Formats: sequence, C-alpha cells, structure tokens
Amino acid sequence: MPRWGVTWIRSDISRYGGVLALFAAIIGAALTLVYIQVPFETAVQREILRSTLTTVFFILSIFAGIAAWFIVLMQGSRRAAEEETRRQTELLMQEIEAHQRTDAKLQEAKEKAEAASKAKSRYVVGLSHELRTPLNAVVGYAQILERDSTIPARRLDAIRTVRRNAEYLSGLIDGLLDISKIEAGRFHLNRDEVWLRDFLNQLVSMFRLQANAKGVTFRFEPSDRLPQCVYTDENRLRQILINLLSNAVKFTDSGHVAMRIGYRNQVAVFEIEDTGIGIPACDLGRIFQPFERSEHSAARARAGTGLGLTITRMLAETMGGEIKVRSEVGRGSTFQVRLMLSDVVRPRDAAPVEDRVRGYAGPRQTIMVTDDDPIHRRLVCELLEPLGFNVITAPDGASCLALADEQRPNLVLLDVSMPGMDGWTVARRLRRMPRERPAIIILSALAMDHERLPDCDDLHDAYLTKPINLRQLLDKIHSLLGIEWIVESDGVPPPEPSETVPDEKTASPPLAPADVERLIRLGEIGHVRGITSALDEIERNEPHSAALVAKLRNIVYSFNLDRFLVVLDAQRRDHAS
Ligand code: ADP
Repeated sequence: MPRWGVTWIRSDISRYGGVLALFAAIIGAALTLVYIQVPFETAVQREILRSTLTTVFFILSIFAGIAAWFIVLMQGSRRAAEEETRRQTELLMQEIEAHQRTDAKLQEAKEKAEAASKAKSRYVVGLSHELRTPLNAVVGYAQILERDSTIPARRLDAIRTVRRNAEYLSGLIDGLLDISKIEAGRFHLNRDEVWLRDFLNQLVSMFRLQANAKGVTFRFEPSDRLPQCVYTDENRLRQILINLLSNAVKFTDSGHVAMRIGYRNQVAVFEIEDTGIGIPACDLGRIFQPFERSEHSAARARAGTGLGLTITRMLAETMGGEIKVRSEVGRGSTFQVRLMLSDVVRPRDAAPVEDRVRGYAGPRQTIMVTDDDPIHRRLVCELLEPLGFNVITAPDGASCLALADEQRPNLVLLDVSMPGMDGWTVARRLRRMPRERPAIIILSALAMDHERLPDCDDLHDAYLTKPINLRQLLDKIHSLLGIEWIVESDGVPPPEPSETVPDEKTASPPLAPADVERLIRLGEIGHVRGITSALDEIERNEPHSAALVAKLRNIVYSFNLDRFLVVLDAQRRDHAS
C-alpha cells in the first residue's frame, strides 16, 4: 500500500469509519434477517415493517456511532499509555545501565582506596614499631635513672623531662595509629580499671610544672564524688586530656589553666579552662578538622600540627562521649568532654603502690624475659633485678621454651614479634607445659591488636604495650605473682628475698679447669655463639654441672659478658685455692 494509504487507514477518522461500518453492517444484517424471517399477508404489512426496520436501523446507527467513537477514543488512549510506558521503560533501562557503569567504577575506586588504605595502615604500623623500639629504650632508661639515688636532684628534673617527652612521643605515635585504625574501621577499646585519682595526679603534676614554668597557675578541682576506680580505656583517656591540657598551657601566657572534673550518674565531665588567647567564633567549627589551625595571629605563632583536636574528638566520640568548646578572643577558652566512666565496685588489681617499690617479701621469684632486642632484655633486667627478682633472658622463642622447662620461671614476659617463633606461639607452647605453668605477660610494641589470635585471651594473663610503663608492669607482676611489695616509706631496708635457687659456688660442682679457661678465652673475644656451643658441649659431657651452665647461659643471653667473666674468674680462683 502507498504510505499515504497506510497513514489514512491508521488515522482516527478511518478507524471510526471502519468500526461504525462494522456496527452498521451487523445491525443491518440482523434487521434484514428479521425482515426475511417474518411472513407477510399483504404488501402493506411488508411496507410498514420495512419502514419501521429502516427507522430502527438509523436509530441504532446513532448509538453505534457514539459507541464506535468511544471505542476509537479508548484504543487511542491505550495506545498513548502503552507508548508512554515503553518510553519510560526505555529511559529506566538506560538509567540502570548508567548506574551499573557507575557502580563498577565506584567498586573499582573503592578497591583501590582500600588497597591504598591497607598499605598506609601497614606503613603506619611498621613505622610506629620502628619508632617505639628506640623510644622504649629512652623511656626505660629514663625510668632507671629517675630511680638512681646517686644522680643529683637538679639533674632529676631533666631526666623526668626526657621521660615525659618520650612518653608523649609514644602517645603521639599511638594517636597516628588510632587515626589510621579508625579510618580502617579497626579500633579496639580497652576496658581497663583505672585508679582515677592516681591517674589524674600524674597528669596534673606533669602539667602543673609546664604551666608554672610559664608563670601560669594550674588549678585542679576534682569533684568529691569522683570514684576511686573506673572502667575506661586508660591510654585513650590520657591522650584526650593531654591534648586538651597541652593546648590550654600552650595558648595561655598569664592567668590560669584549670582542670575541673564533675561526676554524676556514671558520667564524668572534664572541663579544661584557660585564660589564654581564645579562639575567634568563625574558627570554632574548623579547629576539629585535621590540620586546621585558628587564623588568630597569636595562635599561628605557636608550634603545632593541627592534629591534636582531631584525634581528641575522634577518641571522645569513639568512647561514646562528646566534646564541646566555648571561647572568647582575649579572654580564654573552655573545652568540655563528657565521658561515661562507670564505677568499679570491686577492683581486680590492688591500688597502685604510692611509694617507690624497693623489693618484695617471700620466696625469690624468677621472671623470664623473651625479646629479640638485647636492649629491651637488658632494660627489663635492670628494672627488675634490683627489686630482688631472679631475671633470666632468652633472645627467641626456642631458647625461651628450653629455659622455661629447665628453670621453671614464675612469670614470663613475652615479646610478640620475634624472628622464628612469634610470642603467641611461644605462649601456646608454654600453656601446654605439663608442669606448673608460668604466668604470661605479653609485651608488644604494637598498640594495635590486629595480630591477636582468636584464642589469645587464653594465652596470656596480661597485655602491655611498649614503652614499658614501670608502674603498670609492677602492678601486673604484683597481681599475677601475688607478692607483697616492700616500699621505701616502710623505713626499713628491704630484706633480701630468701634464696631458693641454689648458688653455684656452694651447691653445684665446679667446671673443669680446661672448660673454665676455654670459656674465659671465648668471653674475652666476645664470641657469643662460640660460648653457647661450648656450654652445650659441657652440659652434654658433664651433666652434673647443668645448673652452673644454665646460669652462665643466662648471663650470655643477656649479653652481660663482664658478669660472665666475673663468674668464671671466681671459678678459676676456686681451682687455684
Ligand atoms: P595544634 O595545637 O597542634 O595546632 P590542635 O588540633 O590541638 O592542633 O588545635 C587546633 C587549633 O585550635 C590550634 O592551632 C589553635 O589555633 C586552636 N586551639 C586549640 N586549643 C586552644 C586553646 N586552649 N586556646 C586557644 N586556641 C586553641
């Protein structure tokens, strides 16, 4: 058919004509049938019926015309609706395709971001481990020097500052780790029992010094209702308060810095108020963003990274709390932190020893330190030996297990990351020991717990992070070994703990003179591996001298070759006499 013909047939008017013609044909056919079926007597009757049926036909045709028009209209609107639906479906399909493409791109971007974030976390964790190891030595030696009575008092302040700054640095490392952990969605909050007064006093004494050095008074106004001991994450709470207090001291040149603490219905409200430079109203929302600092020229002049408040807010919110600030330029600022600190009714650990521990009563306890870092092993020896503990050291997991079997320590301090066997594996083997098993404290340079194993809770009795906090370590030793401290304030010199390990000079048979000479030679050239294999050989050939060999092995493992030579020298003198 020509195109115009198709167009004409599809037009509404031709459809209408078609439908009407159809209706008319049906009506006409029905009426004709009636006309044919009726028998007529006369021609007049036939004529009457014909004219009646013709009239009926025209009347019905009018109704048929209306009905046909309705039908054509309905068809038209149905077609229009179908057309619209088809168009909408097409649009939707296009949109779905576009979404699928965007989704795929987003997924790809997310995977890339996750990979980058994981790489960053690994980098931050690795870096923090590297930083913590030397820091551990700084904090530890500062702690030792602080306890050294031969150091003049005027030097002690410097040592304290070294320790505090190193501790602060280690706190910063924790902060960076925390940011990376929060970003990576991995953040473990500890539930420590914190002796609040003692904890706050430590902070106050640290900041009072700093404030006074600037000619600023420091006020500490704790509520009387403050509980003795509360549950919270000690490190995170310390970090929040240190950040706020150091800002208050930093931005205040005269007047005062005050720390007020209220406590009600298990909620503590810490208010850190200063009379410093203040923060312009326009900056109040900004300062919590990373690396944002106030535009105030006096604030710009002071050193800072702009990370402190970001970490503080992240920490407070992760702990279920909130932080608010009020400030007026030139008059000062008040930061308010609200945190839930639930009261510990029956604390697990004993209250911290207020005075300096000088020893302990009761039988001598053996503590084994396992760490691949010789500095750390020496550090722990120097911390614990003066208190009367018999400290033995092992540089790796294998020697730890061998020594533990032989010496049966009461407590084992275990580093987590060691070459060969890691700390958790060693802990698992120690737990399986048939005889009386030692208590285990895990010491890790990582504040993160990502390397913890599912069963790790059964594998250790305590978990401490490096740098070692001496007080925390002593608290744990105290509760795990069940010993009584002898403290300086008792006014009596600490009695030597009763010796249960037999002294090699009196109890164990001496070494053969040739062995002594050989060991001295190896000791003088510092050939540690040679010494350990010589000791293994002596132990095999002369099993009766095992106790002395074990003692020498310990000394060698702690790289204390001077002491090793002293012991051998005593043996040589014994032979000579
Ligand atoms: P930083 O102190 O290292 O710059 P923060 O995140 O701790 O980083 O603080 C961000 C900014 O908020 C600071 O640079 C300072 O402008 C402002 N600020 C914070 N605390 C105070 C305060 N107590 N008094 C005045 N300004 C403050």
